[in-house]
Amino acid sequence: MGLMAQFVDKVAVMYAGRLVEVSTVREMFTDPKHPYAQALIRSLPSLENKGVFQGIPGLAPSLLRLPSGCAFHPRCDKMLESCKTLRPE
Ligand code: SF4
Repeated sequence: MGLMAQFVDKVAVMYAGRLVEVSTVREMFTDPKHPYAQALIRSLPSLENKGVFQGIPGLAPSLLRLPSGCAFHPRCDKMLESCKTLRPE
């Protein structure tokens, strides 16, 4: 992500084959909107938190057997009950 940010103006984040967020590089790094994009940004190594690594819990799903509703719901820290059945636009 850090290397890519030096070469592009806009960034797109995909999860399980779907586009979940598009924004400028600055906005993606300072104010990501989608919980997966937020988790990606939080997982980047930083000089301030040397030695501390915060990964994203769980594993990416198989594209052949996606979870119901929002495909990110098993890993999302903002999940609501409705996320298990409704897929957001
Ligand atoms: S699980 Fe719900 S809150 Fe989390 S990304 Fe999906 S729709 Fe959004």
